[in-house]
Amino acid sequence: KRHNRISAEALALDILKGNITALSRGITLVESKNKDHLNEANNLIMKCLPYANKSIRIGITGVPGVGKSTFIETFGNLLISLGKKVAVLAIDPSSSLSKGSILGDKTRMEDLVKQPNAFIRPSASGETLGGVARKTRESIILCEAAGFDIIIIETVGVGQSETAVHSMVDFFLLLQLTGAGDELQGIKRGIIEMADTIAINKADGDNLKNAKIAKIEYDRTLHFYPKKASNWQPKTVICSALNNEGIDAIWQIIQEYIQVTKENGFFNKKRQEQNKFWLIQTIENQLKTDFFNHPKINKELQKQLELIELNKTTPFAAAELLLKL
Ligand code: GDP
Repeated sequence: KRHNRISAEALALDILKGNITALSRGITLVESKNKDHLNEANNLIMKCLPYANKSIRIGITGVPGVGKSTFIETFGNLLISLGKKVAVLAIDPSSSLSKGSILGDKTRMEDLVKQPNAFIRPSASGETLGGVARKTRESIILCEAAGFDIIIIETVGVGQSETAVHSMVDFFLLLQLTGAGDELQGIKRGIIEMADTIAINKADGDNLKNAKIAKIEYDRTLHFYPKKASNWQPKTVICSALNNEGIDAIWQIIQEYIQVTKENGFFNKKRQEQNKFWLIQTIENQLKTDFFNHPKINKELQKQLELIELNKTTPFAAAELLLKL
């Protein structure tokens, strides 16, 4: 079916016009595992790249149930009411295992989905973290080319994916709950260190008092963390995504952050560092994939694994032999 072949040129033109169907097809092309699509996908990215880079990229993380989708819905609607175009992408490497992407559930973000100025895309499935992350980065470029000025990257705060999200956003927001220590919430110190702002969600009803106490505790904790390269002192806020309280304050903070870091040069420096990081990352991924997919190496690897089991070689000798191949 020749006419079904996606032409990067035509697709890029439609994406630049802000055509959502074209944007969806573009992301599908970028996510494709078909080797023939790889060239077209790269073409498409190159065509869109000159028009990208103009958005604010916001990472949002937090454990399941903290209120990420409720927050993104309320926050996204606020931004749209301010005339913004909002894209929501997800990084969820577990989606292939749990069979349900964090954005796969259609009931999530019901209102936001209906907005013509919103674009919501679930995580690529059946991928490793490296794979999803690369595809998300490329999807950001396509969304920006399509005129989206706020890109939200959502991830579940339970694994390695926060680091990947942190490496592709300008601002990192951590949603937290009250009533449970960090340990209970499964949030590691490293994630708190990455946060530019911590928002204690569900600060409503009986929970409001506890949320205020938690805020004081987080303020105290953050005070002991080393100063960030951005020269930005991370903030703690309370909010209720459900009742739309404190959400506009978070948007104010983000705008302040963008202003401060653009003025002190950190904003651009960070994006450049991220691009350099992704260059190295892409090469590492490709080398690894090529290495392990090579038939000769694959065969020898099985042999060496058996020899290891029989104590007839050492991991280092086996590795050297394979690398020399
Ligand atoms: P996610 O798993 O992090 O995406 O969390 P959800 O957005 O799906 O929210 C999980 C549950 O918490 C849902 O029942 C929400 O209605 C509820 N929830 C989310 N935000 C708030 C909030 O600000 N206040 C209260 N009381 N409930 C909330």
